[in-house]
Amino acid sequence: MSLDLTGVTLTYPDGDARLTALDQVSLTVPRGSLTAVVGPSGSGKSSLLAVAATLITPDAGTVVVDGTTTTGLGRGELTDLRRLKIGIVFQQPNLLPALTAVEQLQVMARIGGGSAAAARGRAMDLLDAVGLAPQARRRPHQLSGGQRQRVNIARALMNDPAVLLVDEPTSALDHERGAAVVDLLTRLTHQRATATVLVTHDRAQLAAVDQVAEVHDGRLSAVAR
Ligand code: ADP
Ligand code: MG
Repeated sequence: MSLDLTGVTLTYPDGDARLTALDQVSLTVPRGSLTAVVGPSGSGKSSLLAVAATLITPDAGTVVVDGTTTTGLGRGELTDLRRLKIGIVFQQPNLLPALTAVEQLQVMARIGGGSAAAARGRAMDLLDAVGLAPQARRRPHQLSGGQRQRVNIARALMNDPAVLLVDEPTSALDHERGAAVVDLLTRLTHQRATATVLVTHDRAQLAAVDQVAEVHDGRLSAVAR
């Protein structure tokens, strides 16, 4: 199974006209592999993630998430699909200030149902997987920027998603910390068999990823490396 976008076109209203944010984009990301998407600001990278996340319905084209075609699904069905199959890491970690790291993850499980003890165990395992077990009881203001971003990533994995979508997680980090986050995402992708799309502007970090695609004016092309 995989994440599949086929012939996706997305436009936004722009005065009397429409702005084409995505132009006939096709992309397949198999589970267990990471595709990096690079491109200049305004080229359509976040729009691509929003369509893959089923947060925006494209004008044309299809999105298939781990075997489920999203075309024609209602709001409630899309919400369920996102909860069960899609982990999203936004640019800003938007952690809840009052909660500890482990609680940030447990909140996700409560949304999904299941026992509190099982959720805590899973949350601790994930914090361990991102190297933050010792910080489990810290609140966001007691964590560094890189640590907050790792909590954010662990939280997105809480419901064991088939698809992991990550938007510029390293933009606020220095090069070394950014590279560590990309390495972590690559490892988690292989371990947890997610179909991962990583939007980034830092090409220097991409040596180990499985596939690189470049967006320009809403058009996607594969990059030979
Ligand atoms: P990137 O993430 O690569 O910077 P975006 O996907 O955010 O690019 O934006 C692609 C294009 O779509 C840009 O020209 C941007 O101004 C436009 N755009 C993005 N979101 C909206 C929106 N909600 N309404 C109108 N135009 C938008
Ligand atoms: Mg963006």
